[in-house]
Amino acid sequence: MPRQSKDYYAILGLSRGASQEDIKKAYKKLIKQWHPDLNSDRKKEAEQKFKEIQEAYEVLSDPQKRAMYDRFGYVGEAEYSQTASGNAFEDIFRDFEGFFGRDVFDIFFGERGGRERSTASSRSGEDISITVDIDFRDSLLGTQVPVEYERYETCEHCGGSGSEPGSGYKTCPRCHGTGTIREERRSFFGVFVSTRTCETCGGTGRVVGERCRVCGGSGRIRKRHKTVVNIPPGVENGEKLRIRGEGNAGYAGGRAGDLYVVIRVRASNKFKRKGEDVYTDVTIDYVQAVLGATIQIELPTGGSTMLRIPPGTRPGTTFRLKGEGARSIRGGKRGDLYVIVNVTLSKPKSRKEEELLKELAKIRGIER
Ligand SMILES: [Zn+2]
Ligand SMILES: [Zn+2]
Repeated sequence: MPRQSKDYYAILGLSRGASQEDIKKAYKKLIKQWHPDLNSDRKKEAEQKFKEIQEAYEVLSDPQKRAMYDRFGYVGEAEYSQTASGNAFEDIFRDFEGFFGRDVFDIFFGERGGRERSTASSRSGEDISITVDIDFRDSLLGTQVPVEYERYETCEHCGGSGSEPGSGYKTCPRCHGTGTIREERRSFFGVFVSTRTCETCGGTGRVVGERCRVCGGSGRIRKRHKTVVNIPPGVENGEKLRIRGEGNAGYAGGRAGDLYVVIRVRASNKFKRKGEDVYTDVTIDYVQAVLGATIQIELPTGGSTMLRIPPGTRPGTTFRLKGEGARSIRGGKRGDLYVIVNVTLSKPKSRKEEELLKELAKIRGIER
């Protein structure tokens, strides 16, 4: 019985004269667009489309099959045995579902039984973690850091399928195309039969005809990736930023993992951060402490400001500069800058100084 003929060109949105290059391009684009994992809102439709696109590609990317298709409008049964049996299985599965409803079906075929057959082998890529060192000032202001790291990217040669373009698929030798493996266990209570998804084909019932010669069948290629990480203002030492989708590419169209950027803030010799507040210290002369002074204070975000030290300031006095601290990356208002005042004492540095101090002692009635 000939297969029901389908318009493979229309499925890929191509005209009859399309080149191999056009076919490959259209396939890559559509397979991404209709990947069931990316279409959770219309999974059934996406699964159907996904399968059609693969089928169309298998035929049109193979010059022999394509010629046959162009001539007869379908590709002979023998050529198609695996896909045909796959479809037969799918039909049985649908009948079961219609008859028993979903729950019973799941009992029959195990948790991940036939239902996710077309997507079971697609898995998310792994997350990657990198460390980035930044200066204290940049941690407050935010910065952009160029980074370079190794990651797996989708193999362009096979579009991530792992199969050498044009080589098609063959029935999985492990599960013989069923996508599941049945196990019988005998115990005191009787015989238990369990089924699980076939690991070899990931439940799809088929494996690639020929492994992609570029990626060796994994669908991914290790590459050095360069990008620029945006670091928001206010990050603290040890903070972990997550950048979605910048990790390893997924398997067989699965979504990419995430990139975790661990921030290490280089210690500053001037400033210390506690929560959103920043601490610094400043050293003044005892005469300034006694008479009062206006001194320049460096700010943690750069630049400086003048701080008025009132007469009679004791060592260890702390001044607060409102809003000159750090900001949390989670929002909220900025912390404050605390300036701790150190005071230096010294011997008189000249005859003149000594005389003046003695005079001062007399005025204040200090015994010497
Ligand atoms: Zn490849
Ligand atoms: Zn299998």
